[in-house]
Amino acid sequence: MGDKDKILIVDDDILNLKLLAASLSAGSYECVTAQDGYGALESIEKEHPDLILLDIMMPGLDGFEIAARVKENPTTRNIPIILITALDGSDNKVRGLEAGADEFLNKPVHAAELQARVNSLLRLKHYQEQLATRRQAESRFLGPMDRQECGRGRIELPNILVVDDDEKDARLIQMHLHGQPYEVKTVTSGEAALTCVTQERVDLILLDILLPGIDGFEVARSLKEADATRNIQILALTSLQDLESKIKGIELGVDDYLMKPVNSHELRARISALVKKKAYLDDLRSDYQSAVRAAITDRLTGLYNHAYFYHVLENELKRARRHGRSVALLMMDIDDFKMINDTMGHLAGDEILKSLGNLITVNAREIDVPFRYGGEEFALILPYTDSRCAFSAAERLRKIISDYSFTSASAKEFKNLTVSIGISNFPGDAITLEEFVKKADAALYRAKSEGKNRICVHR
Ligand code: GH3
Ligand code: MG
Ligand code: MG
Repeated sequence: MGDKDKILIVDDDILNLKLLAASLSAGSYECVTAQDGYGALESIEKEHPDLILLDIMMPGLDGFEIAARVKENPTTRNIPIILITALDGSDNKVRGLEAGADEFLNKPVHAAELQARVNSLLRLKHYQEQLATRRQAESRFLGPMDRQECGRGRIELPNILVVDDDEKDARLIQMHLHGQPYEVKTVTSGEAALTCVTQERVDLILLDILLPGIDGFEVARSLKEADATRNIQILALTSLQDLESKIKGIELGVDDYLMKPVNSHELRARISALVKKKAYLDDLRSDYQSAVRAAITDRLTGLYNHAYFYHVLENELKRARRHGRSVALLMMDIDDFKMINDTMGHLAGDEILKSLGNLITVNAREIDVPFRYGGEEFALILPYTDSRCAFSAAERLRKIISDYSFTSASAKEFKNLTVSIGISNFPGDAITLEEFVKKADAALYRAKSEGKNRICVHR
């Protein structure tokens, strides 16, 4: 992230503005300010802030009103808002939540707490933006079909794990969450929490810091260390008053914290923000995986594609060099495929390509990786294989293919499909990757010119 995040601070009291700006300048933000509601709206339009700190009590437009307007406008909806209130009482918090505020802070604002809240909301916003960018790229490269195929539409409720050794506290939290759209489960020790996350899906942990055995800090640290559990959000609930332990918690990976005894509205607001963040993280991860899969897979046959062929081949050659072993490469091309397309139609041709891809996959050795090299050409990389073994593997495949009855829904049965195969060997025939592929290609060309349905080894 190169640019500094821009934070708009809105307060009618100049002293407050300065105090807030000063608390934030220790971080890496750029602060802009506004002294009333209209100034704030103008600044939001002009400055495009990444986050807004908003005083509630102001003459003219108050904080609730501004929050509502920001959230109504699609171009500003994603800007997180922290309402800053001198008012006590949950009525205001509920009103603020309804207006669309993401967080609350009470005056006087505590610098470390402000920093923690600001950071966690900014992180959330960046996830949102990343996701939006990836969505755009995906819909451009993959088309609308694939979007639905990658596991969207999950309707499982978020799972919350409460970790508290004090039964009364745990029950109190359960009560606060009663009727909320979450699955809630309770354990009474850090050890039990760590076991639980390996056995079931957990989205958020409400974590007591003072626990018998391993404490909350330790639990947070080990969850954030492991890849599989890193995305689990941690909301620390602590009666520790001192600032140092809060900061320690944040450093160890606690995503947010609340002081005991917790206020029910605050608890819900924080949970809802963290659950949202977890959903973004999960989306990012699965979108990433599906994007990678799409980038290396041929859509028609489901085999790996041309790009991935080169990637695998490069690694295979490195490995062969290191261990002083050989690699064989088979290039296979369907004979007279143009005629098949011409007489049976392109759709039937596609079906045949698909069945052939499958036939090769099923009949290749476990370690031999098949690829769709392009059009009606396939490639097989045979690690640790010399030309003689490669020839017999190729001959076996050639026979299986020529004996196979290809059928097609869009045309009648089609029997006589044959392939020609060229083989080259590394390091016998080539030293570089390009040479290696070229030699197999040359051998394939010879197989064609010598009458097709045959195998040629580079010589
Ligand atoms: P040869 O025995 O010399 O290889 O002859 P051929 O007809 O197989 O080779 P040529 O290179 O002349 O034609 C290849 C044909 O493969 C032409 C092209 O339309 C077809 N083809 C390539 N990709 C696809 C595809 O994805 N689907 C279908 N149905 N046909 C394809
Ligand atoms: Mg061909
Ligand atoms: Mg061809």
